[in-house]
Amino acid sequence: MTGAQADRVPLPDPVRILLLDIDGVLTDGGMYFSAEGQAMKRFDVKDGLGVVRLAELGFPTAVVSGDRSAISAARCDVLRIGHVVLGRMDKETAVNEVLEMTGIAAESAVYIGDDITDLPALHMVGLGVAVADAVDVVREQADWVTRRPGGHGAVREICDAIIEQIARRES
Ligand SMILES: [Mg+2]
Repeated sequence: MTGAQADRVPLPDPVRILLLDIDGVLTDGGMYFSAEGQAMKRFDVKDGLGVVRLAELGFPTAVVSGDRSAISAARCDVLRIGHVVLGRMDKETAVNEVLEMTGIAAESAVYIGDDITDLPALHMVGLGVAVADAVDVVREQADWVTRRPGGHGAVREICDAIIEQIARRES
């Protein structure tokens, strides 16, 4: 589903999985490099709590990233991400693999991205989300644009919306 002008299309009901890009979504896209070539990234604790709360509710989460650094793997571990696909630029295939593995229909999935490599994944799921500071074409083609930028609360917005839906369903 894609609504060029829509800031916010409703979540699939029921939403059954959250798929995330890492760089620019779980991070602000910035990277620090030492002279020795060691890289560091910054993750957001509030985003992290949102993802962990989903894990605690038994809600499936996945990461699909072109990066395959030990930093990203370690962060996914802390966040209790259920399906971690790293080092893959072809996100459409990677997302399909996760959906096949989990038996979840694409229409019930939410994907959050920030750059052009995320576009095929954004188009194939029930709700394609762009972070507020995604590149223009991604924001234009997303179903939902978060209020906060990547690495600064964008992921938490979507986690909270999913948790709200789960709570509504259970009440
Ligand atoms: Mg990215």
